[in-house]
Amino acid sequence: MSNNWKELPPTDREFASHLINWFNDNGRDYPWRNSRNPYHTLCVEQMLQRTRADQVAPVYVDFCSRYSSPQNLISTGRKTVDELFNKLGLKWRSKHFWALQKELVQRFGGAVPKEEELLLSLPGVGPYVSTAVRIFAFGDIATVVDSNVLRVFGRFYGIEFPDHARRSRHVLEWATAHAPNGSNLNQQFNWALIDLGALVCKPQKPECDNCSLLDNCWFANNLDADEVSQT
Ligand code: SF4
Repeated sequence: MSNNWKELPPTDREFASHLINWFNDNGRDYPWRNSRNPYHTLCVEQMLQRTRADQVAPVYVDFCSRYSSPQNLISTGRKTVDELFNKLGLKWRSKHFWALQKELVQRFGGAVPKEEELLLSLPGVGPYVSTAVRIFAFGDIATVVDSNVLRVFGRFYGIEFPDHARRSRHVLEWATAHAPNGSNLNQQFNWALIDLGALVCKPQKPECDNCSLLDNCWFANNLDADEVSQT
């Protein structure tokens, strides 16, 4: 990789449109992608942290059918939250999730705040979850950046990002400069980034021949075909 992550290059103008075109034919369909409910969005983003989406899907559907608000969930008792995270194999996270429910009620009357600063003040909510809620529930224009998304950007531009770069304000703003206008388009762009990172631009053996970013991708164009297929 050739570029320094602290001196980020100008954004490629066609990056978003190539991704969205790919997403329209290849994107995954998860139940939370059909909802803009802020409470359910915040909860599912918590469930998705370090958990496979396929594993979360049935738990999310069940959760939404039972709980429409933190008051609703709290009234059933802490044990409910423990059982929920047991199903996901994430028992240790139920403590944060319970604290989150209580803060939503105590500080915001059960509503999910829209402002980034307030979202970040909630238990267990970091830059990724806060950005995801703003995009997927409130229609803000921004870009989520996790390790997979950072890998796509890094390979495309030839930048060696350290993992902590995904929390850098500078990187988040640069990633957001790629986002298209319009909340629906921007949602598709973000899902495309997430899905392309998981399905095509994989950590090992990226499938560059199936990638809509191939023509302008630094990584694909600076390794020969054999190297790309074996990476
Ligand atoms: Fe990743 Fe290859 Fe696509 Fe570049 S062309 S973004 S390396 S899958």
